[in-house]
Amino acid sequence: MNANYYENKLDLKKVINASGKMTILGVSKVNKKVIDAQNYGATNFFEMDDLYIKSGKYITNLINEKVKSNSYFEDAQIVSCTSAGIAQMVATTIAENITKIQNEKLNAPFDFINFKKREVIIAKGHNINYGTPIEIMIKLGGGIVVEAGYANMCNLDDFNNKLTENTTAILYVKSHHTVQKNMLSLEDMVKFSKSKNVPLIVDAAAEEDILAYSKLGADVVIFSTSKGLNGPSSAIVLGKKKFINGLRIQNKGIGRAMKVDKSTIFGTIRAIEDYIYDISSNETNKIDTYTIATKFVDKLNKIQNINASIVKDSVREIYRASIQCEKPKIAAKIIKMQKEQSPSIYVREYQANIGIIEYDVRAISEEEIEIIIQSLKNIMKNIEEHDE
Ligand SMILES: *Cc1c(COP(=O)(O)O)cnc(C)c1O
Repeated sequence: MNANYYENKLDLKKVINASGKMTILGVSKVNKKVIDAQNYGATNFFEMDDLYIKSGKYITNLINEKVKSNSYFEDAQIVSCTSAGIAQMVATTIAENITKIQNEKLNAPFDFINFKKREVIIAKGHNINYGTPIEIMIKLGGGIVVEAGYANMCNLDDFNNKLTENTTAILYVKSHHTVQKNMLSLEDMVKFSKSKNVPLIVDAAAEEDILAYSKLGADVVIFSTSKGLNGPSSAIVLGKKKFINGLRIQNKGIGRAMKVDKSTIFGTIRAIEDYIYDISSNETNKIDTYTIATKFVDKLNKIQNINASIVKDSVREIYRASIQCEKPKIAAKIIKMQKEQSPSIYVREYQANIGIIEYDVRAISEEEIEIIIQSLKNIMKNIEEHDE
């Protein structure tokens, strides 16, 4: 199939993704090995319940063998995305409080009349919008959102104050999207949840150090496959057997509306294999963002009136090219013009209000870097001519 086949047929815009793993752009580029695994899944039949259980066991074993000791992950389940994992896990903890009868568990998240134990505590600074407000996923699972602390701070007392007999779980969000300062560490949160015997669900969607989490001891951790693992659109829920089993029950409840395709299950397995084997062999399948960003910055600095430098992600080991514009107005203009041109260039624009534009290098080719450079040259020339 011609590379532009559907682009032409559907009249689609070609996109250069220098913004990162963005849902609005389809998140990740999936490699050939993952596609092959997806192909295997797509063209064969399986006993699906068996596949869910065995794929979960396989992934758990892969991680535990790599980590060797002190892993807290007992089992895993592949779900359609992180959001689905949050909703289903909230439903699971509610069902756990309410009933031991499997069929009743399916309705547990929605029976508001009889059951009050459905409150999910989340730090106010973690109550984020990642394109969708995270609290919608809590509500989708039947939870009631209870915020702890303030926009800029949250400590153990704040959590303790919100803890009641109706608390069903704590949701901790580990992400660059959250407030970083004056928040509880995940380590402290784990200790707290254990001492209070409240299930702790960790949303680690875009984190890339999965193995580190296996030692932390949270009850449940959810990783997106399409973000850190460059896999298909899915997520892996890892944790205590009790909760993973509960989540499988919810698969036949609200989870049905978030069903995972069999091809995606195999793509997910392949993506996690890549991740584990890669780090064990020290081969660098992993993209060296520092080297790519450094070369990119050199090229950027040759453009007139562009002031570029290399920056590290606020939390993760990801390096990007960053340009500091003289005025926020110029940054806004560059962002707009790059988006409007063909191919369309998407950048990180979180700090455009202070004149900063960042280019994420994880999914751009050398050829695309040249297109970005050329486009910036043209834009800067245009800005100069119109400003003088
Ligand atoms: C992207 C993201 C999500 C949503 O992930 P999906 O797999 O798209 O549902 C949730 N939480 C955080 C912190 C994220 O970054």
